[in-house]
Amino acid sequence: MSKNKKIAIYGKGGIGKSTIVSNIAAAYSENHKVIVIGCDPKADTTRTLYGKRLPTVLDVLKDKRQAQIEDVVFEGFNQVMCVESGGPEPGVGCAGRGVIVSMNLLDKLGVFSDDLDVVIYDVLGDVVCGGFAVPLREEFADEVYVVTSGEYMALYAANNISKGIKKLKGNLGGIICNCKGIENEEKTVSEFASAIGSRVVGVIARSQLVQKSEYDAKTVMEKFPDSKQADSYRKLARDIYDNDKFTVPNPMDIDEFEEFFHKFQ
Ligand code: ADP
Ligand code: MG
Repeated sequence: MSKNKKIAIYGKGGIGKSTIVSNIAAAYSENHKVIVIGCDPKADTTRTLYGKRLPTVLDVLKDKRQAQIEDVVFEGFNQVMCVESGGPEPGVGCAGRGVIVSMNLLDKLGVFSDDLDVVIYDVLGDVVCGGFAVPLREEFADEVYVVTSGEYMALYAANNISKGIKKLKGNLGGIICNCKGIENEEKTVSEFASAIGSRVVGVIARSQLVQKSEYDAKTVMEKFPDSKQADSYRKLARDIYDNDKFTVPNPMDIDEFEEFFHKFQ
C-alpha cells in the first residue's frame, strides 16, 4: 500500500535544499514512486535528477493555455517525476505566484494520485510571501523539515521559517543539519532544534562529491551510489519516511535568538 507521504523541505537560499531534495528523491526511487516539486524561483531543484534544467510551469503556461501533464511533469533519474513551478524574474512580482499557479494546475491535472508514495516540495524560506504557505496547506504537504547549517543566517532563517510553520499550524518533522564545516556545528544545530521544540532528523556532511556530481548535472546518488555521502542521503530518506514525531514549533523572538546564538561563540 502506498504511504502517500507529503513532505516539504524549507530553508534559506543556498543552504542545500535542492541537493537534499534531489538526493533523497533518488533514494526513494529505489523502492517508491516519487515526485519532486521545485517551488523556488531559481527552478534548479530537479536539474540533477533530469540532467538539465526543466521548463517551468509558469514558462509553459505563457505559451499554452491548456497545459497537459506531459508539458509540466518530466521523468528524471530512475523514474522520479520532476516539476519546477518557476517564478517571476528577480525583482518582479511575488515569488510565490509560480507555486500557487503550479499547485492548482497539478491538482487539476490529477498529478497527486493515490499511488504516489512520496511527494517532496523544495521551498525557499527567506521569501515569506503567499507562495511560502502554499505547500503547507493541508491538501499539499503534511510535514515540514527545515534545512540549516550552524551559521548565523541559516539559523536565523530557520527560526523565521518556524514562525511561519507555527502560524499555519504546520507539522514540523525536524531539522536537517547540512554541514558547512564550522566549529561545534552539530551541537549548535541540535541545541537550536531543542530550543524551538524540535529535533535533528539527519546530519549531512560537507563533501566534495556534491560539487563533482552537480558539475555533471547528476545527484550524488546517481554518480557515486556506493559512497558514504550517498548512504547518508539514503539514511535521511529512510528516517524521514519512518518519522512519526511532529511538533508545532516554538520559535524564538529576536532577543532570545541573539542570546542563543552568542552562547556558541
Ligand atoms: P538551495 O537549494 O538551498 O539554494 P543548493 O542545494 O542549490 O541550495 O546548494 C547550494 C550549494 O551548496 C550548491 O552549489 C551545492 O553543491 C552546495 N552543497 C549543498 N550541500 C552540500 C554538501 N553537503 N557538501 C558540499 N556542498 C554542498
Ligand atoms: Mg534550490
